[in-house]
Amino acid sequence: MGAHHRCLGFPSGLPYSTDRGKKSVNRQALDDLKQQIPLMSYLQAHDWHPARPLSRGRWMGLCPLHEDHKPSFLVDPHKDLFYCYGCGRGGDVIRFAELYHQVRFSQALVLLRQWRGAEPLLQEVTRFYGLQLHRHSEAVAYLYQRGVRSLELIEYMRIGYAPGGCLRGWLMQLGHSLATLRQAGLVAGVDYDAYVHRIVFPLEGNLYGRSLSASAPPHRFLPGADSPPAAQSVNRRVGTAERAMRREFPDARVCLHPAFSTGTGGNHGLAMGGHARR
Ligand SMILES: [Zn+2]
Repeated sequence: MGAHHRCLGFPSGLPYSTDRGKKSVNRQALDDLKQQIPLMSYLQAHDWHPARPLSRGRWMGLCPLHEDHKPSFLVDPHKDLFYCYGCGRGGDVIRFAELYHQVRFSQALVLLRQWRGAEPLLQEVTRFYGLQLHRHSEAVAYLYQRGVRSLELIEYMRIGYAPGGCLRGWLMQLGHSLATLRQAGLVAGVDYDAYVHRIVFPLEGNLYGRSLSASAPPHRFLPGADSPPAAQSVNRRVGTAERAMRREFPDARVCLHPAFSTGTGGNHGLAMGGHARR
């Protein structure tokens, strides 16, 4: 299988830069990629939640491709296919990545390959930062101020805390090379943890970091195809996370959004009102 995947990584070796080029991509390589990334796993990693079961193991949920108010997005995990009765779009995991990230076919393959490679490491990082959260009262206090006030919500979103200066050593102890960590964007410069003094949680197959410090850029993501992510993309992603939290925990008054200051929360209600009108 290695040979096929190496082909997928050649940016100019195969003419799949246009949709017409799709036919030229090695069919076996695409099948391998799809098999390794079940549509359901990919959807759930991008914060999709099934709303109700249908017959033959299929699920309905809100369509992640547009504003959807009643579930119109059908997923068949056995066939690894989706179809939306609202927007009429459907297909496999590659098609979903194209539509969701608004990229062309070749770029969708790159994103899926990155996701496939980074997911296990991301799981470990999330677990480690989750443990750190409960050792740092300033992080818990910050979450409280931002409206994240229940342990269930913290566990549901897998929220953690990156104090900085401890992830690199821990992952290397587990056998990850410094080169791997640098490539993943977890280590910056010579040997610094990239996430320092940040609330972190997995978001859309990436790691979101919200700075506790007003002097650092408020939002951080791992490098990806859209790195640094456009402000619009950051807004959308953070908005998605906030909505997911409020949907599952209606009492939560979550506010992680970029437009609002990291201050002490004096205008918290105003900020929420402003966001709700968006
Ligand atoms: Zn749709």
